[in-house]
Amino acid sequence: MQDRIAAAKAALAHLDIEEKDSAIKAASRDFFWYSPVLKDRLDHVTADFVVRPRNEAEVIEILKACYAHDVPVTTRGSGTGNYGQAMPLEGGCVMHLRHMDKVREIQPGRVICEPGVLLKDVDAACKDHSGQELRMFSSTWATATIGGFIAGGSGGVGSCTWGSLRDLGNIIRLRVVTMEADPRVVEFRGEEIARVSHAYGTNGIITEVEMPLAPAYDWVEMFVAFDNFMEAVHYTEQLAKEDGILIKLANIFEAPVAHDYFQRVKPHVDPGTNLVGLMVAPQSMDGFQTFTGRRPEATVIYRSDDNNWERGPGPVFEYGWNHTTLRALKVDPSVTYLQVRFGYPNHIELIEQMRDALSPEVLHHLEALRENGKVIFAGLSLVKFTTEERLNEIVKIHEDAGAMVFNPHRYTLEEGGRQSVDDRQLAFKKESDPKGLLNPGKMIAWDDPDFSFDDMYAYPKLQPLTEA
Ligand code: FAD
Repeated sequence: MQDRIAAAKAALAHLDIEEKDSAIKAASRDFFWYSPVLKDRLDHVTADFVVRPRNEAEVIEILKACYAHDVPVTTRGSGTGNYGQAMPLEGGCVMHLRHMDKVREIQPGRVICEPGVLLKDVDAACKDHSGQELRMFSSTWATATIGGFIAGGSGGVGSCTWGSLRDLGNIIRLRVVTMEADPRVVEFRGEEIARVSHAYGTNGIITEVEMPLAPAYDWVEMFVAFDNFMEAVHYTEQLAKEDGILIKLANIFEAPVAHDYFQRVKPHVDPGTNLVGLMVAPQSMDGFQTFTGRRPEATVIYRSDDNNWERGPGPVFEYGWNHTTLRALKVDPSVTYLQVRFGYPNHIELIEQMRDALSPEVLHHLEALRENGKVIFAGLSLVKFTTEERLNEIVKIHEDAGAMVFNPHRYTLEEGGRQSVDDRQLAFKKESDPKGLLNPGKMIAWDDPDFSFDDMYAYPKLQPLTEA
């Protein structure tokens, strides 16, 4: 392997190559450590070299050279993925897209940009240009790239109104480079987009994206307090269903999450407070206040446009989605989490059932999500971690009750998803990456088509611990 690495590196010596060991190590890691299970297995994983292409032509050059020398390539946006998606399990090359950060074109309702631009910079450019913004973004808006969001994420702030990235219309076009002797450039639209979106860069590298936009607003961010958890759930569901009130975020934190883990919110709540976080469009505030006024159980304790908090909480969306886990981990390193789908029509009953069975070992954190025209909840439940066995048991309790778990303690596409092979992604990998060099170890269907999903998948070529 070392000879092949040296040959590929020599062929790419005229590009921006990182030589420093500490920088290579840093560019080989993401937020995998969120999971005690992944931390155990992936902590030592490191690339052999890092290269930073400036444009699509350099991406093609890198893929061609690495193909010629059989060197694996793992693509990196900002490395904020939290399942080890951007980690080079077998070593080789990390291709870091930070220089590919241009916003190319903005039109009414759409933006075309390079993959390495940060979500916040896409929004800033669109707002300046014509008062527009992305329909949805990961709560890592300030640090994550648009390419990483499409290849590794699923949805986030905005999904309560617009659904998930995988829903038709939420990605317009992707331009992708394949890893072959002579890499091809392929464009995907409509039905075809699912072949490469959320594929962790295992079957092509996205070099340009075209995304739909919505009007930008100065969203009013709020926290609403409830004594009773299920009242908070009903309130949030009903608000998300109000057709005339435009929202970008609606989430619920079971007590005592806000009190114990949200430092700047703590002085304003008590341990029994269940908290709802919201982003409401300014023109919807009259409707919102009427809605909330009808519900005496709800108390607005914070409004971003009108408050007397000595220390502001910062953006309310940075308490939601996976930021909740991050805040909890900072206070209590033994906390981990699950990703659960509480689907229509029995989502509310399932939420109550899981709370009766598992609280306070598992505390609900729910995000309102639109799916097929219905409001459902994504649960990013906080789990007090004891052992892997117990974590697996908690997963099973959810699954047995009918709540689907997207296991965030696994590094493969299938185990982090619906535990089934995505034939479209696999078929395209056969065409686009015949040597299996793109982000190896992340697509079980490629490595082991007969895998049973009974136990956690262990990639046979994972770097051995002694190489760390
Ligand atoms: P990376 O982590 O660098 O990459 C993600 C995956 O995409 C990797 O497999 C990588 O190989 C691949 N990839 C990157 N760029 C390309 C490319 N151009 N072509 C092909 N493959 C590519 N996710 C959500 O969906 N919603 C959330 O709200 C959310 N909140 C988060 C909050 C926190 C605190 C953390 C730590 C994570 C969160 N995530 C969330 C996960 C992650 O931050 C997002 O998915 C993010 O958008 C990933 O972007 P990135 O640039 O960091 O990608």
